[in-house]
Amino acid sequence: MALKEYRKKRNFEETPEPAGRTRRRRSKQPIFVVQKHDASRLHYDFRLEVDDVLVSWAVPKGPSLNPADKRLAVQTEDHPMEYAGFEGTIPEGHYGAGTVMVWDQGTYQSDGPESAADQLAQGELKFTLDGTKLKGAFAIIRTRLRASGAKAQRSWLLIKRHDDLADSTWDIDQLDSSVVTGRSMREIAGGEPPHRKSHRRKS
Ligand code: MN
Repeated sequence: MALKEYRKKRNFEETPEPAGRTRRRRSKQPIFVVQKHDASRLHYDFRLEVDDVLVSWAVPKGPSLNPADKRLAVQTEDHPMEYAGFEGTIPEGHYGAGTVMVWDQGTYQSDGPESAADQLAQGELKFTLDGTKLKGAFAIIRTRLRASGAKAQRSWLLIKRHDDLADSTWDIDQLDSSVVTGRSMREIAGGEPPHRKSHRRKS
């Protein structure tokens, strides 16, 4: 896992996205983040901390708490850890141009004795999320159904496993707010300031 592909795609003098340091983060629990991204096509970027980077997938329909939903997740380039806090707008003409929301964040734990990196290398990771919107047992499984070669290697399915936190009424469109600023996609795009709990606004 390295950030070469991530950096190659971006001009950090012109995009507000972080360039990323290779600094090691010392925390007991690895983090996850889901970013809602209104690029040429609206999608959700699902990212798990593995070995000091955010291993990343683009999920067109977004994650679901309904175990009946099997969400296509196309693996993209690893992102730097600092990306987990990125919310804002990537300017026109740049890679991934459009509005980015920190839709959910929290920690996760891989299930079983093998590391997350080892499970991913084998094409199936079972893990448990502890976020604000997403909680409970999930799996991400590489699929070989769609195409041959490199493209097939990038296609995965993100699935909620059955547990008490499963929700068959899940509707992601009802959940359009940032977990860090409370803003909707429209408010982020319009450069609105973060919502405060006291509802105070700068005048
Ligand atoms: Mn994206």
